[in-house]
Amino acid sequence: MSNPFWSDIVRDLEPYVPGEQPKLANLVKLNTNENPYGPSPKVLEAIAAESGDSLRLYPDPNGSALKQTIAEYYRVSPDQVFLGNGSDEVLAHVFQGLLKHSHPILFPDITYSFYPVYCGLYQVPFERVPLAENFSIRVADYERDNGGIIFPNPNAPTGMLTPLADIEWVLEHNRQSVVVVDEAYIDFGGETAISLVDRYPNLLVTQTLSKSRSLAGLRIGLAVGNAELIEALERVKNSFNSYPLSRLAIVGGVAAFEDEAYFQKICRRVIDSRQQLVIELTELGFQVLPSAANFILARHPQQVAGELMLQLRQRGIIVRYFNQPRIEQHLRISIGTAEQNGQLLAALKQLIG
Ligand SMILES: *Cc1c(COP(=O)(O)O)cnc(C)c1O
Repeated sequence: MSNPFWSDIVRDLEPYVPGEQPKLANLVKLNTNENPYGPSPKVLEAIAAESGDSLRLYPDPNGSALKQTIAEYYRVSPDQVFLGNGSDEVLAHVFQGLLKHSHPILFPDITYSFYPVYCGLYQVPFERVPLAENFSIRVADYERDNGGIIFPNPNAPTGMLTPLADIEWVLEHNRQSVVVVDEAYIDFGGETAISLVDRYPNLLVTQTLSKSRSLAGLRIGLAVGNAELIEALERVKNSFNSYPLSRLAIVGGVAAFEDEAYFQKICRRVIDSRQQLVIELTELGFQVLPSAANFILARHPQQVAGELMLQLRQRGIIVRYFNQPRIEQHLRISIGTAEQNGQLLAALKQLIG
């Protein structure tokens, strides 16, 4: 499709396709890695308290209250924190402000599919680095000329964790380029690389409140890194949208970081459910990659993944299927409540058993 009014860039874009957000109620929705538990009640209280006359006023363009809270939480200074309207927006600014150079950036062949989309939008050259046979990130492959490096940890959609020591190896061997670690799922079983930002001025860590803090609908993402990297992102942001976080998002985000007990409780539940689900899927004959995220990537040697996905859908259960080399026989399944996981297993037993 094309139109004479479109710019050349728009004509050639291949936009990201998000997982379906169906309008039907009562679906067992295991396709977009949302948290199956609600946000902290304290977040809801803070948002309710902010829902009043003050909404006629613009929010703090700097989101200082939330930056301060995050800085204290991670023991960094507020000028090492960047905020965006979801980490997808933070990542967009990262591609434009820190990863756009003459040399190609590197990311895994199987990874978050938004990365190549941003490369198209911002004209960033890139090369895909194949994951190892077992789907792990082989850090030695990242010791080569590049304009920057980005990967999620744990990786998506594999769920596999790269140890912090391996990340440090990448940083040490790439002191001339920015290394971005996208920690959208780190709270479900990994250790954050934020502890390394003071030693590595080339490290930027991004996180989101969408998954582990159950606030996908509020849209809050963040980055932590050296103050000069953050300054680059502020320059892009202040040339794009001065008010990326609403008043509701700022107060809700603060409350989310303050309610540590609730956060720990729901992360623990998701991790426990994941372990249980892996055991039961394995009993059904699935091969499941080791996951440190709130989803798993699994294949059944006797089943065609695309068909299984459709059969589950007919039973009201939606999971994610990627028609893409190396993982076209896998399904990505978000971890639901114990009840939702039970419904999934019951359906699979019928279909396979
Ligand atoms: C979900 C996700 C994000 C984006 O999260 P936001 O909702 O935009 O904050 C970023 N990276 C990865 C790998 C994700 O899975």
